[in-house]
Amino acid sequence: MQHEDWLNELKERGREIYLLEHTAALLGWDQETCLPEKAVEERSEQLALLEGLAHEKLAHPRVTELLEKLGATLETPKGTVPLTDVDAGYVRHFFRRHRREVCFPEDLVREFARRTSIAQSVWARARKSNDFALFAPELKKIVALIKERARLLKVGTHPYDALIDTYEPGMTKAELDRIFIPLKKELTALVAQIKTRPQPQTDFFNAEYPLEDQRKLGNLILARLGYPQDRGRLDVSAHPFTTTLGADDVRITTRYGEPNPFNSFFSTVHEAGHGLYELGFGDAVRGNLLADGTSLGIHESQSRSWENLIARSRPFWHGFYGEVQKLFPGILGEVPEETFYQAINRVSPSFIRVDADEVTYSLHVILRYELETALMEGTLEVEDLPRVWDDKMEQFLGIRPDKLSLGVLQDVHWSAGLFGYFPTYALGNLYGAQLFRAARRDLPGLMDDVEAGRFAPFLDWLRRSIHQYGSTYTAGELLQSITGEPLNPGYFTSYLKEKYQDIYGGESFGG
Ligand code: MG
Repeated sequence: MQHEDWLNELKERGREIYLLEHTAALLGWDQETCLPEKAVEERSEQLALLEGLAHEKLAHPRVTELLEKLGATLETPKGTVPLTDVDAGYVRHFFRRHRREVCFPEDLVREFARRTSIAQSVWARARKSNDFALFAPELKKIVALIKERARLLKVGTHPYDALIDTYEPGMTKAELDRIFIPLKKELTALVAQIKTRPQPQTDFFNAEYPLEDQRKLGNLILARLGYPQDRGRLDVSAHPFTTTLGADDVRITTRYGEPNPFNSFFSTVHEAGHGLYELGFGDAVRGNLLADGTSLGIHESQSRSWENLIARSRPFWHGFYGEVQKLFPGILGEVPEETFYQAINRVSPSFIRVDADEVTYSLHVILRYELETALMEGTLEVEDLPRVWDDKMEQFLGIRPDKLSLGVLQDVHWSAGLFGYFPTYALGNLYGAQLFRAARRDLPGLMDDVEAGRFAPFLDWLRRSIHQYGSTYTAGELLQSITGEPLNPGYFTSYLKEKYQDIYGGESFGG
């Protein structure tokens, strides 16, 4: 059959792109973990070369021709020839990636790269000096370029549709509104109620936890979660991340040395969640372009399920706390399990998104989403961002930052041209809660296993239900087939209410 030859040729070309990208990932990993300071410049050149080669292969005229022969268009991204689910998913995935490489004229690509590179360094200076006026002209240029890119992508009906679709295929602004509007209402009410309750004791986090024992704790939990030592590594970097260098080489990083070793602990569990996803791709997608997370939201659901739904749960600590006490007997020896459990789940409105707890986190995201959509619609000017940011912070969390580094200048994303990215962080929480509910339906003994330190049944469930498929199915398709319904934020909010009612006591959390 001729279409099989076309598909095979596409797969051969895709394999080269896959290999190039993992080679670049190795250089990137090296840069973040051990590259000598003076070698940064040439490393950027090396990375730019590999990126250029991958672009050429993705945008190659023969790829355009093969995708056309297979019938892939915006309306029929899976093609129009008879294919298996995995092959149709492959065509759709390749078509999406190809299209992103060819739909922007080259001068726009160059201008975008130049502007974001300048804006990132200006943003870093502006953040240091709390000077928004310094950053505003750069941000304006980026917003204009983003609008132009959205127009050229021709996805959906609202300019934001093209932006969110880049990171969360198939997601739209209308769908985000359907989810975020009620979620915001529920979360702001919950935060306001929690604020009136007495706060858990957390003073024991301020003690000196020996670095060596922090390391032991990180390695212990990785081994316990089943992170395979012969298919990955744990290293140290300034900002924790996960990177895939091959089908059997997925590396994660953490950072130690903060006074509270549990920041490092939860960050290690979080990255392990990302890593286990990348290590779980099945044979049908192994080694090709489909061996990739299907969306940033699903990726984040994996990390957050392990971090929050498992490792911040009461059963987890009921089983694990004794070992941690033995590791830090001088500090935690006299701290009761319940006190510790409440401390790691403390809810406290704060300015910085990356430090936010499980309840307030999604509100930080919705704030950014509202600003991004208003910028795209032209109902908000860049100059007004600081004031509107602070007003929203006050409405959502009841706090007002007194400097811009704690407000609108805190994140690197906008200077890097990442618009439409933030919502995926909150989607991760929502997908995670909905999928976890399905996991508990299928595995009635799940929380008993967690308490006993047996994580294999849950990991196997994730592999079977999600990991094995890579990008074959979109987030929406996965959610529908696993849980029987589209995204429903009610699972996340009812999880939060139940958990924090139990921790904070008092009158029940209504709404
Ligand atoms: Mg993450």
